[in-house]
Amino acid sequence: MIKVTCLGAAGSVTGSNYLIENSQGKKVLVDCGLFQGGKQIELRNWQDWGFNPTQIHTLFLTHAHIDHSGRIPKLVKDGFRGKIITSPPTAGLCQIMLLDSAHVQEMDAEWQTRKDKRKGKKEILPLYTTKDATQSLQYLSPTERDQIITVEPGIKARLRNAGHILGSSIVELWIEEANEEIKIVFSGDLGKQDQLIVKDPYKIFAADYLFIESTYGDRVHRPFEDSKKELLEAIQYALSHEEKVIIPAFALERTQEILYLLGEFYRDKILPNIPVYLDSPLAIQATEIFRKNKKYYDEQARAIVDQGFDPFDMPNLHFTPTTEESIAINEKPGSAIIIAASGMCTAGRIKHHLKHNLWRPGASIIIVGFQAQGTTGRKIVDGEKQVKIFREDVAVKAKVFTIGGFSAHADQKDLLEWVSHFTEPQPKAFVVHGEATASEALATVIREKFGMEVHVPKWKESLILKAREVVRKEVPTEVTPIEISQTMLNKVIDLEYEIERLKKRLKEKEEKATITYEDVSKLEYIQEELQGILPE
Ligand SMILES: [Zn+2]
Repeated sequence: MIKVTCLGAAGSVTGSNYLIENSQGKKVLVDCGLFQGGKQIELRNWQDWGFNPTQIHTLFLTHAHIDHSGRIPKLVKDGFRGKIITSPPTAGLCQIMLLDSAHVQEMDAEWQTRKDKRKGKKEILPLYTTKDATQSLQYLSPTERDQIITVEPGIKARLRNAGHILGSSIVELWIEEANEEIKIVFSGDLGKQDQLIVKDPYKIFAADYLFIESTYGDRVHRPFEDSKKELLEAIQYALSHEEKVIIPAFALERTQEILYLLGEFYRDKILPNIPVYLDSPLAIQATEIFRKNKKYYDEQARAIVDQGFDPFDMPNLHFTPTTEESIAINEKPGSAIIIAASGMCTAGRIKHHLKHNLWRPGASIIIVGFQAQGTTGRKIVDGEKQVKIFREDVAVKAKVFTIGGFSAHADQKDLLEWVSHFTEPQPKAFVVHGEATASEALATVIREKFGMEVHVPKWKESLILKAREVVRKEVPTEVTPIEISQTMLNKVIDLEYEIERLKKRLKEKEEKATITYEDVSKLEYIQEELQGILPE
């Protein structure tokens, strides 16, 4: 019997964490992400793990996004000393992402402490520190994809390309269970077809159980070509007014996709040689890791490299890691493209650029990522006339372009296409990593389209996975005549016991009234059947 407990990203999109236990008590984890998106859900980061971290020897990490990796420093702090099996690019990206996350944790705790002090409350400690994050990095065990590895006796695994961000992986697990082998597939976050930079998700044909993400389980993205056109138009708008283009972007993948497209526009000579600033230390570091991992690029990106170009470069591209360099950008007149974090405009250098440009008619604000409720980015998207930046009211006079086609997630159509390959055998599916409506919508359409058994697990729900009929290997047994007669004798004894019980019930007064002619005829039927099948 195998038990899988959904300790994160079940009924929500963050905090990815699944505990898998076999009957020998061996435990492995898939992902260890941070819960994000508001105070209520973030409290879960502080709660008990639901397992003892010292007893876990293997964590499979699908990719470097913080909602999948962000609790690793806490896991190590709480006693984990095992291996974190992940692809080499993911290990590289984690080095910068986890340190950045620790820095955010420290800043948040410091801010909260300062606020609470005025109320006479105690100091707030961060979930983990930069030191914890640095220490956790030594457990990363970069493992190439497409090879089967044995991690524990009776537990094998293989990583496959998930096509979501650089290094992102699907996890295939084989767990031995009483002479059977059960295969469980965790999709991780899946990319869409023909996504930039990364190869399409690897097609898998067989599994007994499938855990599939459903971030966009109820939606279909707009065609990517439309988004590319919109991006160009948005840039041209600001250029025609000699104003700046501001792009709030997430450091990982989205930023590199934007650079990739700008590079393409430049090589195709549809973008003039204006300055492009990558104004985010984290995004700069991430881009360097992308450059070091060319072998993981898709065919198109490889072709650019083969022609002697860097897909993320153009002659007038400037990396501005220091604060002085960042401040200097806004002192330069004329057009420029500025890519800065944070993606939702809640923190970081983007706030300075918005303060300088949001009120300027003719400037372009290009929103290419998801904007959560309550964020400055969301207010801008929703068309508010002015927003607060650094306690100052800033008028929104720039033109706002919201471009929706840049998601690195498969949409419903992509997810169904990927699921359609599972035929030998068809797995039982568990739909996870989605808001309830998205997960339920995907579950319904998988059931209808493929006739699969599908379940949407809740947070903390444990699932018992057994060897399924379709893959059960017959154990050859030779049965002796003595064993047959022994089995027969046991059955007769059982029957005698049942008959005794029936006799007793009939003798009891209160039971008499409940016996009907139907029961009598059932007994007669059993008697006839027995006479028919018993050997002479
Ligand atoms: Zn992701």
